Amino acid sequence: MPKITALPALKDNYIWLLRNKGGRHVVIVDPGDARPVQEAVATNNLEPAAILITHCHYDHVDGIAGLVAEYDIPVYGPANEFVPTLSHPVAEGIHLHLDAIAADFRVLDIPGHTAGHIGFYGHGLLFCGDTLFTAGCGKIFNGTAKQLFHSLEKIAALPDETLIYCAHEYTEENLLFARMVEPGNSAVVQRLKKTRQLRSTGAATVPSTLAEEKRTNPFLRCNTKEVVNSTERFAGHALNSTEEVFSALRYWRDCAD
Ligand SMILES: [Zn+2]
Repeated sequence: MPKITALPALKDNYIWLLRNKGGRHVVIVDPGDARPVQEAVATNNLEPAAILITHCHYDHVDGIAGLVAEYDIPVYGPANEFVPTLSHPVAEGIHLHLDAIAADFRVLDIPGHTAGHIGFYGHGLLFCGDTLFTAGCGKIFNGTAKQLFHSLEKIAALPDETLIYCAHEYTEENLLFARMVEPGNSAVVQRLKKTRQLRSTGAATVPSTLAEEKRTNPFLRCNTKEVVNSTERFAGHALNSTEEVFSALRYWRDCAD
């Protein structure tokens, strides 16, 4: 299993570095900025081997050009979105073998935040970009609520112990919304307390486990009574399916920003 390091970047992004134990090779996930990667590479005497990209937004791709110019490495990313610097477009069903770090990942199509968003799943790790967040989920840009709902269902079907490596530090603000939706969920209150402790020392609250998300992330709990009731109150009418609850909850989250 690769060793993972978080590189904080831009305002609240994480760039993930994957390396094999004892090795110098490193695979970079979603470099929105080249500089923190170049610094980490120089400081730790690393050798970049590849870049993985989840979707086309600038805060995930703007570092690619600088890194490719310096290290001449392949860039794997979504076949169904426009990322001009990709060398290897990939989509659902592709298995990536990253020899340099002895790792294998399966590509998952997880659209919704953007229409062609992908994730990388392997070794019990999921790099899911801006699809599922700790205690929340991505905004809908050029995807649809229906796509995002089905993408979260796909993620929820992975093993509970899966580690969720999303691309932003949003846990605290997401939990404030989760607490508003589910004031009776003590697991949310506990997680908020733990999150504030971690953030007060500057520590990352990512990754989480899928099990923790299922306990505290309202977007994975759209079939539970309190989430349904709160979201119906917000919508002002009955919601007739879990997907309708999800869609109204996503809209509520946008309004709460
Ligand atoms: Zn994004």
